[in-house]
Amino acid sequence: MKKKGSLFVVCGPSGVGKGTVCKELLRVRPEIKLSISATTRERRKGEIDGVNYYFLKRNKFEQMIENDEFLEYAKVYDNLYGTPKKYVLEELNKGNDIILEIDPQGAMQIKEKFSDGIFVFLLPPSMEVLRNRIIERGRDSKENIKKRLKCAYEEFDFIREYDYYIINDDLSGAVNSLIAIIEAEGCRVKGD
Ligand code: 5GP
Repeated sequence: MKKKGSLFVVCGPSGVGKGTVCKELLRVRPEIKLSISATTRERRKGEIDGVNYYFLKRNKFEQMIENDEFLEYAKVYDNLYGTPKKYVLEELNKGNDIILEIDPQGAMQIKEKFSDGIFVFLLPPSMEVLRNRIIERGRDSKENIKKRLKCAYEEFDFIREYDYYIINDDLSGAVNSLIAIIEAEGCRVKGD
């Protein structure tokens, strides 16, 4: 039966609430591990290096690419983001479940490498709600909001690449669905 941990990829358009859902999941299920990504983007107010991200200079990030230290990496809205390999592989080998909260380009790279990964796509209840959430975040110019919504439409076309979808209508409902998926996967017989 199950010995290795499972790798869960949580994906979805900008503003859908991936970060909030994952944060709440870890609060109620602290035994689940979250991969901390590296990025070249600027640190936002309140973000802590090594907690939210590893904030790296571009040349350091490129050096890590050269050294094959990423499981995946991608350019997202002009910045580089990547999943450091070491931590993820160590946790899986210890038998721990791990979550990667990454963009769809990264998710597809992970799918190539981990055919047994579990891919979850978070959907907004509607495009209107998504637009409002992006506006309420207050981080994006009008131009960027347009860009993000266009990107979301493109991402929806690839939903069939995922194993599950969750509509992020309310936080606890979305987190409960994610927990249900994780628990079901923990009891998997086929494909073990
Ligand atoms: P933000 O800059 O708003 O924190 O994240 C922007 C986007 O980058 C989000 O869609 C987020 O899921 C994605 N992202 C965060 N970490 C990674 C990563 O390690 N790899 C990839 N491919 N995307 C990431």
